[in-house]
Amino acid sequence: MRKKLVAGNWKMHGNLAENAALLSALKPALAGIEAVVCVPFPYLAQAQAALAGSSIAWGAQNVSEQAKGAFTGEVSAAMLLDFGCRYVIVGHSERRSLYGETDELVASKYMAAQAAGLTPILCVGESLAERESGVTEAVVARQLDAVIKAAGVASLARAVVAYEPVWAIGTGKTATPEQAQAVHAFIRGKIAALDAGVADGLVIQYGGSVKAANAAELMAQPDIDGGLIGGASLVADEFIAICQAAAK
Ligand code: PEP
Repeated sequence: MRKKLVAGNWKMHGNLAENAALLSALKPALAGIEAVVCVPFPYLAQAQAALAGSSIAWGAQNVSEQAKGAFTGEVSAAMLLDFGCRYVIVGHSERRSLYGETDELVASKYMAAQAAGLTPILCVGESLAERESGVTEAVVARQLDAVIKAAGVASLARAVVAYEPVWAIGTGKTATPEQAQAVHAFIRGKIAALDAGVADGLVIQYGGSVKAANAAELMAQPDIDGGLIGGASLVADEFIAICQAAAK
């Protein structure tokens, strides 16, 4: 039986004081519930100090595909490990669309993360134009195939996939539970065709305007195994309620 996992993506939000307040609210409220917060790089040490020994893991939102060297401004997977990270988001749609990350680059980042022992949270999802032109499954399949081709299907046993329809991210528009479930089932089926065991164990999160108010019905879907939460992960009560809904 898969365990549900909720991860927060703080994006480029927060400061020392706000983070301290948020983390100290999450820690007791989520005692015993596995959850993840993916924080900006400068706050990894703060997350580590605040969350060590708790059931909440922490991670980053991006990682270099390179191991080390003259790559100004980049952060390696080994550096993330130094700060106790267990997870890193790769291929978030904002990285793909705003910073030109290709499927191949995302696959390289995924492999760099795994090579260092981190669990990548691999984001896939279609834009509104892609959904409206009926190519949702083709887009998601292409994004997954790039990773499977580079790293092999077995690598997904050490990864989390997040289905995030781009039109639902930060827009207040959530995919209906049925729309999300259909794509989650497609993802699992596609992987099952290659390796049924990997597909069965794979945690597939849904992301896109998840809130306390809609979390329970999304999490009730058979192939939705948790969530990747943006805006609502910055509001303690919201994030706590989402994690509790997933844990039920
Ligand atoms: C995200 O950034 O991954 C996300 C899902 O954002 P939001 O929850 O704000 O839509």
